[in-house]
Amino acid sequence: MRAARLTAPGTLELVDVPVPTAGPGEVLLGVGAVGACHSDLHILDAPGGFPTPITLGHEIAGRVEALGPGVTGWTPGEAAAVYGIIGCGHCRACLRGLENQCRTVPVGGIGISRDGGLADYVVVPASHLLKIGDLEMTQAAPLTDAGLTPYHAIELSRPSLRPGTCCVVIGIGGLGHMAIRILAATTAVTVVAVDSNEEALALASRMGAQHTVRAGQDAVDQIRRIVGPPPDGADVVLDFVGVDSTLTLARSVVSAGGQLMLVGLGGGGLTLQTGAGPVPVPLETTARIPFWGTRAELQEVVALAQQGLVKAEVHAFPLTDVVEVYDKLRRGEIHGRAVLVP
Ligand code: NAD
Ligand code: ZN
Ligand code: ZN
Repeated sequence: MRAARLTAPGTLELVDVPVPTAGPGEVLLGVGAVGACHSDLHILDAPGGFPTPITLGHEIAGRVEALGPGVTGWTPGEAAAVYGIIGCGHCRACLRGLENQCRTVPVGGIGISRDGGLADYVVVPASHLLKIGDLEMTQAAPLTDAGLTPYHAIELSRPSLRPGTCCVVIGIGGLGHMAIRILAATTAVTVVAVDSNEEALALASRMGAQHTVRAGQDAVDQIRRIVGPPPDGADVVLDFVGVDSTLTLARSVVSAGGQLMLVGLGGGGLTLQTGAGPVPVPLETTARIPFWGTRAELQEVVALAQQGLVKAEVHAFPLTDVVEVYDKLRRGEIHGRAVLVP
């Protein structure tokens, strides 16, 4: 079969590999669609630290092809979305259903610490499959990360997302545009979308953002005119970029008592400082680094999609285009989510 593999740090190649076999408790899935996540670019850019060779692709939907020994509850041909996080299953966090906080496996995932879905077939633990009924594969795949991760961040900040409050969303790409859709579907907050790209901002408006602001010098002033000046501001800021400039913007427009959700893994830093310093974060503000989400939350995101309340802006490409698609993602030419179809 074909598989897009990280063969060395920085190198993604479409190669031929044997079709894997499902072991005990596992399922062989025929891949229907896989989302191209910006995290894959971070993995590609990491100077080692990830196992090689490994098939990337952690946003997967497909059809059951074969069941490994001991698997029940699935029949060949059934459609499924894949919950991508691999926790140890035994630690205090995993036992509470918080595999995204596993105390044993730091960042375990299908397509991250074991072979993923950028291939014709992928083997996954049966426990990681969720039934999706007749949802389109290209819609279901992005739900498992581009949908789930913002949903989780929104769930964590939901107590602050009161009707009439403001939420600033920074970075309207794969995750950010889904965040706006989910906010529109499940809250009555005013959404202020921020991006450096005009097309991304146009997408934000289509997804339901009431205001759009181009990232840049006067962005803070523009946003403050909408959300109010400090100590007023946005009750929640979701940063899907996570570089120094967006973190500075985030802390400059969050309200006292507000919530900063630092989802983007851009490598920026946020200084939390007490007293009157040069980089104040408003009093009572909470900063959190959410990671992916829980299995239960994925089921809820799938339910939102099945009810037609959440729909990704999808650009589908054949798997043979995989290298070019990641180049496009890196150049900022994908608005919404690119998915690869084997
Ligand atoms: P994407 O490439 O689809 O979108 C990024 C968006 O940010 C683009 O619209 C781009 O124009 C915009 N942007 C880039 N730099 C900007 C800046 N300085 N100011 C304003 N806008 C800017 O990326 P994605 O797939 O949505 O992923 C977003 C981030 O979230 C990545 O860092 C990714 O690794 C991370 N991520 C985190 C988790 C988690 O669990 N914490 C999960 C998935 C992805
Ligand atoms: Zn991802
Ligand atoms: Zn664990």
